[in-house]
Amino acid sequence: MRDRFTCRMCGVMHADTSMLEADHIVPHKGNPKLFWDEKNLQCLCSDCHRGAKQRLDRAGEIHKRD
Ligand SMILES: [Zn+2]
Repeated sequence: MRDRFTCRMCGVMHADTSMLEADHIVPHKGNPKLFWDEKNLQCLCSDCHRGAKQRLDRAGEIHKRD
């Protein structure tokens, strides 16, 4: 809502809010202060959300092999 239904990553506006997810920039790890901090939230569409997390996972794998 705050981000006007626009994905922060690809900049596409989604009128269908079921396509949008709130992403925590810093993982909250159960910390309610981080969980509810709106400065720590960004709006991503589900495609970007999935893609971003997959890229992080892959980067982690590469790092582990290093
Ligand atoms: Zn997107």
